[in-house]
Amino acid sequence: MLKTAKALITSAGKQLGLSSATIEQLLEINKEHQFEITLPDGKRFPAYRVQHNNKRGPYKGGIRFHPEVDFDEVRALAILMTMKTAALDLPLGGAKGGVVVNPRELNDAALEQISREYVRFLKDHIGPHQDIPAPDVNTNPAIIDWMVDEYSVLTGDTTRASFTGKSVARGGSLGRDAATGRGGVFALNDLLKDQGINDKPLTYALQGFGNVGSFFALVAKSDHPNWQLVAASDSATAVYNPKGLDAKTLADFKNGGGRFVDFDQKEQQISNDDLIGLDVDVLVLAALGDAVTERNADQVRAKYIIELANGPVNDAAFTTLNKRGVIILPDIIANAGGVVVSYLEWVQNTKNERWSEARVNSELKRYMTRAMRDLLQLSKSKQTSLTEAAFMLAIKHLLDVA
Ligand code: NAD
Repeated sequence: MLKTAKALITSAGKQLGLSSATIEQLLEINKEHQFEITLPDGKRFPAYRVQHNNKRGPYKGGIRFHPEVDFDEVRALAILMTMKTAALDLPLGGAKGGVVVNPRELNDAALEQISREYVRFLKDHIGPHQDIPAPDVNTNPAIIDWMVDEYSVLTGDTTRASFTGKSVARGGSLGRDAATGRGGVFALNDLLKDQGINDKPLTYALQGFGNVGSFFALVAKSDHPNWQLVAASDSATAVYNPKGLDAKTLADFKNGGGRFVDFDQKEQQISNDDLIGLDVDVLVLAALGDAVTERNADQVRAKYIIELANGPVNDAAFTTLNKRGVIILPDIIANAGGVVVSYLEWVQNTKNERWSEARVNSELKRYMTRAMRDLLQLSKSKQTSLTEAAFMLAIKHLLDVA
């Protein structure tokens, strides 16, 4: 992932005519923090925070708790956060954090200790105007609430602007839970509008009916009834109905703890591989990285792919699909709705305000639409893919060049 991120930035930088020295500077990481968290029972957990770039504002990026957290992956994700915040023209930089831990093997008390220790190690390097972490894989508002509390106890900060992704009761923003999916709907609509087909009936298949995927489908159902969901998957299986699936029925089923393998309806069960190869207009990837690779890129029949997960189409697959004329809406813009609303949460905290969900959604739309307009324009003027154009857009904002 680190190699891919660097290659994308290097290639975009070259297309913008930047010198090798300037490209090197873009890739340089400002600060890395590596430490170990030890619990009273002696268990030890390696932990990281990588602060890539703060040229545009405080560092911003999630903290993940996962047994496979790896330093290079955290570095890559920090670099991609810089690109994402810059592409969206947010006054923020990029960072990422992680702890090598399997939260499923720990009780709440141990998780709380790890969360608080993480903040104790980093307290001098984070804060509302320095570095504003957020939840990521396996971290949630409850964990962030512990972290904010620890930060407040240690520093006396009462703004709660030191972290985003808090529970709404503790200063979180309305609309954050749906933000990434909703932002994806705004972005896809702008792309389809540009193609002149947003009002036409179209079908889509959705890999990964989790937080992001389910909100994408629910918002699409209400805003674009002409977009027909025909397949949706979780990690085990996919449900498929060429006549259409109801997003709300699926969301209720999943929220009740269901697995699609037990979905007791008339829909067909298909594999995740089958879903990738369905004859649909749009393929929505909202599960994991590397969902489409050289192994299955040839099976893709959709004309459009929207990357709601981070890096769901790998380099080799990108090259194949790009040659075939498949249009890929890249992750750093397609899934940026979450960081946009994180920024809005920070703004509310620093001003001591509470915005309505309608206001948050309308601000989110404004940011997404502006980024999509600039992305489409740049892709046309440079005659390049949306993925390359997204990185070029980010770099232009980072270097403040027209
Ligand atoms: P989630 O855990 O809520 O949902 C993930 C979904 O993918 C689940 O339904 C899971 O069953 C499914 N899944 C897992 N492995 C799969 C596989 N091999 N094949 C098909 N489906 C599989 O996570 P989420 O918060 O919805 O995030 C989804 C993706 O979006 C992740 O890659 C995440 O990094 C990225 N992302 C999330 C946000 C956010 O705001 N949550 C923001 C930006 C990017």
